Amino acid sequence: MKVGVAKEIGPNERRVAVTPDSVRQIKAAGYEVLFEAGAGAGAYLGDRAYEEAGAAIVTGAADLWSRSEIVLKIQPPLPNRSLNAHEADLLNEGAVLLCMLRPLSHIDTVRILARRRVTSFSMDMMPRTTRAQRMDALSSMSTIAGYKAVLIAADMLPRLFPMLVTAAGTIAPSRVLIVGAGVAGLQAIATARRIGAVVEAYDVRPAVKEEVESLGATFVGPQLKESEAQDAQGYAKPLSAEAQRQGQELLESRIPHADVVITTARVPGLPAPRLIPAAAVARMKPGSVIVDLAADMGGNCELTQPGETVVRHNVTIHGPVRLASTVPIHATQMYSRNITAFLLHLTKEGTLHLDWSDDITSATCVTRDGQIVHGPTRTRAEGAATAAAG
Ligand code: NAD
Repeated sequence: MKVGVAKEIGPNERRVAVTPDSVRQIKAAGYEVLFEAGAGAGAYLGDRAYEEAGAAIVTGAADLWSRSEIVLKIQPPLPNRSLNAHEADLLNEGAVLLCMLRPLSHIDTVRILARRRVTSFSMDMMPRTTRAQRMDALSSMSTIAGYKAVLIAADMLPRLFPMLVTAAGTIAPSRVLIVGAGVAGLQAIATARRIGAVVEAYDVRPAVKEEVESLGATFVGPQLKESEAQDAQGYAKPLSAEAQRQGQELLESRIPHADVVITTARVPGLPAPRLIPAAAVARMKPGSVIVDLAADMGGNCELTQPGETVVRHNVTIHGPVRLASTVPIHATQMYSRNITAFLLHLTKEGTLHLDWSDDITSATCVTRDGQIVHGPTRTRAEGAATAAAG
């Protein structure tokens, strides 16, 4: 079977789905690999390295997509302006697509995939289990984002991070508040501690207290039972009104003490919780910095503009999207290992073997046999269709 590695066409996207090392692994598993010329350039990976690894270099997207039976990508299919076609329409009928599809945010694309009878898998729906850990691209990208968010904050902050004792006096360390102590938040805590900040972390899930403290930060959070704040997969779930009020009060009492606030709070499938209202920003010290890693889901801060840096109430608010793409070499290396492990998971005896009784295979599948099979996406697609008809 032919596996195609497509060039990413999204704005500011510098990653590519697989490295030459992964090409070797995919070939050894029994596939042919087609690689779109120039697809690795943003990550400093030349066509030559892919050729040496055994890939056939294909010039142009039209050729790559039409010759591939399986397409590996990072971003969901997008409209390709130079070809005047949507990438999802370039796929062969019945082809297989592996990417970070984020189906709930790309309903129209999912509809095209279903119409074209594409079997699509969303890397961002990987179950949070030990068995799936090697394929967990969301964690890989969140790790990079958490690290980079701290560097952005340190660069923008008109203060130093570490405590310095100098002949010109003692400089107090900066205070960093991390909101949301999941994968990105924990990496942000570790990075901020490493460059000398005093760190506090806020989360609604009591389970993270120990992890936060083991990284040398102080935990703040509302007094909730684990079952009130966390679902069976370990994700945060929507809180009761009382828990929300309690948590919000606590969080807002900590914000004015911080020089930097890094927010990472998400609830799967829903817009990011609004945790930092404009009034709380107005109470921050002049020159403070907010980096909102939930910007792509609407932002945790009311004043965040996705993809932009704005100054409000003398506070710089950064709303980065695709932060992992700003570290393209390592982001590519990590994603490549994740997606290759997933492809090999779907492979038996040198060919694709889709076992729908397997929890990883079934949990990540969005479309197959002309249907949207991911329940929440199907419900949203049907809801949108009904609203349009009404
Ligand atoms: P996420 O990106 O969904 O959310 C980030 C953080 O925001 C979470 O810690 C969440 O509790 C927090 N949050 C949500 N709503 C909030 C609110 N209103 N106020 C404050 N904080 C809020 O989370 P994630 O980084 O994907 O991780 C979720 C969990 O899954 C973590 O416990 C993580 O350790 C676990 N995990 C397990 C595996 C595995 O076992 N293979 C892999 C990755 C993550």
